Amino acid sequence: MSVTRVDRRTVLKAGGALAAAALTSSQVPAAFASSRLAAAPNWAAFQKSIKGTLYLAGKPGYPTVRQLFNPRWDATKPAAVVRTANATDVQTAINFARKNKVVSVPKSGGHSYVGGSTVGNGLVIDTSAMRSMSYSGNVLTVGAGAKLYDVHAFLDKYGKSLPTGTCPTVGIAGLTLGGGMGVHTRAFGLTCDRIQSLGVITADGTARNVSATVDPDLFWALRGGGGGNLGIVTSFKLITIPATKLGFFRLTWPESKAADVVRGWQKFAVAAPITAWGNLHIDAKSNGTLQVHVLGCSTTGNGAAAAAELESYVGSKATTRTFAVRTHMESVKYLGGGTTSPRQGFLAGSDVLKPMTAPTITALLGAVKAAARVKLPAAAILDPLGGQAAKIPSGGSSWGWRSAVGVVQWYTGMAAHPTSAQLKAAQTFITNGHRAVRPSTLGGYVNYVETGRSVSSYYGANYARLQTVKKKYDPANFFHTAYTIA
Ligand SMILES: Cc1cc2nc3c(=O)[nH]c(=O)nc-3n(C[C@H](O)[C@H](O)[C@H](O)COP(=O)(O)OP(=O)(O)OC[C@H]3O[C@@H](n4cnc5c(N)ncnc54)[C@H](O)[C@@H]3O)c2cc1C
Repeated sequence: MSVTRVDRRTVLKAGGALAAAALTSSQVPAAFASSRLAAAPNWAAFQKSIKGTLYLAGKPGYPTVRQLFNPRWDATKPAAVVRTANATDVQTAINFARKNKVVSVPKSGGHSYVGGSTVGNGLVIDTSAMRSMSYSGNVLTVGAGAKLYDVHAFLDKYGKSLPTGTCPTVGIAGLTLGGGMGVHTRAFGLTCDRIQSLGVITADGTARNVSATVDPDLFWALRGGGGGNLGIVTSFKLITIPATKLGFFRLTWPESKAADVVRGWQKFAVAAPITAWGNLHIDAKSNGTLQVHVLGCSTTGNGAAAAAELESYVGSKATTRTFAVRTHMESVKYLGGGTTSPRQGFLAGSDVLKPMTAPTITALLGAVKAAARVKLPAAAILDPLGGQAAKIPSGGSSWGWRSAVGVVQWYTGMAAHPTSAQLKAAQTFITNGHRAVRPSTLGGYVNYVETGRSVSSYYGANYARLQTVKKKYDPANFFHTAYTIA
């Protein structure tokens, strides 16, 4: 679908009505909602002052640019979306929104689990057009709008890669700011651990080049503090890793071995060489049974050795075993299911785990089994941590889960626009999952942010320090949703 620029007449016509709508938004922070506007925001002047494009509600292009990955948020209608062309545009947009008391949220890849990158009647500051990349001296400089597949394809030309997540269309900004887990987490740490510096525009409109030596408190906070909290990142400098082939394995076990597999996977996450990684899936099948498999790989290229180590911890050979060695880009496409990903409805949540005891493992399996019995397409997906991710001290960056064994994601795929009964069933699964692992949960993973969880639970012991940084750089709470640090 083509996207057209709004013209001046359109902007002027829409301006008045939209200003009123922005003020009545329930998501406007108190500091903004309580003040009265002297005049309607001058959207036309705003468009003239930027290089990027403003899309006002109801106008051409708007239906596409306002979309997020999950169609569940299609009902949320921002007053406008501004596709910024550069950091100066972001600065202008923040200043415009602040001056006009229009609530605004940043957007990059649009994959927020809770629709955090859109806002009813507000302004979405969309950095997705800022996706230029350059490489020099082992460092990638990347615009905040780049998507993961594009980052890998670019770096591959230099024989380089980055530890990231797998979905090709996830934005580098949201992923990195909240951590960033994937196949290289154990070998090279999280995506946020690779940040050398960031270009950031804070709530007062100041452009900052944040690093370990400039605004070090903000640098600490942006490495794990989650997107949308502390400013709008315009670019990252990320320290790359070598692009190597990966040795993959896929092992399946019968349901009767499920508890052994979870126990063995935990040992693997703690004790396997940092070159090895394995993602454990416990899937609810529509016939009421569980399917148990581990998709893993080794950065040495020897997937069979990593698989054998996992089997030794499980205490039994897998029923089916497949192996393949893939080049860097073959691996990226394999893990991402291609070079792009269609929009998908889902509801999900998470628990960051310390090692689970036998009763907790039984309860975890019981939660997925209950979903299988009611034919809910649900899964518990367990990502290992440990290795390099565990080597940074808990206070070294705001991503505070260094001693955890891994993260379980409670995932339910669903229709683009689910019924309330479907949503309720999915939420019941997630709630049951949380309850099952309660003795072992440390908190939640902010990139899998969900409703009904306290903001502080994503940060553990680092939350108070994050609140201090938030107050310093955003004292009026300009960047504010139900999911942001306050
Ligand atoms: C299909 C799918 C697969 C995923 N796979 C993985 C995975 O393998 N590993 C993993 O760790 N996570 C994964 N995630 C989670 C993903 O990391 C988060 O959803 C992440 O926040 C998405 O970032 P985004 O830029 O695409 O989303 P957005 O919705 O654009 O942004 C997410 C949050 O960051 C804020 N934000 C966006 N841009 C900026 C910016 N420039 N500056 C400051 N704040 C900004 C937004 O306001 C929002 O709060 C996956 C998600 C999905 C939907």
